[in-house]
Amino acid sequence: MKDANHKKIGSILCQKLVDAFEKRAIHGYYAETKEDALKLALGLIPEGSSVGYGGSMTLDEIGLKAALDNEKYNLIRRELAKDAEEMREKYIQIYASDVYITSANAVSEDGIIVNIDGNGNRVSAICYGPRKVVFIIGVNKIAKDLDAALLRARNVAAPINCARLSKNTPCQKTGSCMNCMSPDTICSQFLVTRCNRIPDRMHVIVVNEDLGY
Ligand code: SF4
Repeated sequence: MKDANHKKIGSILCQKLVDAFEKRAIHGYYAETKEDALKLALGLIPEGSSVGYGGSMTLDEIGLKAALDNEKYNLIRRELAKDAEEMREKYIQIYASDVYITSANAVSEDGIIVNIDGNGNRVSAICYGPRKVVFIIGVNKIAKDLDAALLRARNVAAPINCARLSKNTPCQKTGSCMNCMSPDTICSQFLVTRCNRIPDRMHVIVVNEDLGY
């Protein structure tokens, strides 16, 4: 449980980030708690939408996938794919979806979003495809600048995710990036989102709670 001072500093950091996004033509929203984040996210996803998602603990932690998994939405459940060919079909469906929900591996204080990916399905859907992208990012993912965000993605997020997904990579054992070329690497593609050019496409909910890795 964070003390009040820690929460206050987190709140200032998150609100500054929300302002920074507006300069990048990305809509930013502040959420004090994960319950607030869930309400804000649902407000950005009209009923009847087809919704795709990338691998993310944050989405589960705020309960967003569970809240969308009903007849009011068309949630594209990629984990139901039985083989690689069906998975590819799901990814293509997600590419054509109305809304894509995701977190990020890190974000700089001035609003540059960093994501790394093994297959590239997540970073490609962030770049283009779904008509709207909704990010949910916990305060723990905020890094001082772009270099620190890239460092965080490779030395905090990736090793924990490799361990969580039982990937055979050196970082799983060492806890930090060894710049591997393992077939199991989740660091094939790096996406640095500097700004948005398609009006109203990108939305980021910044949450003053630790979420995901
Ligand atoms: S490049 Fe390899 S060692 Fe480095 S974080 Fe990615 S998977 Fe781990």
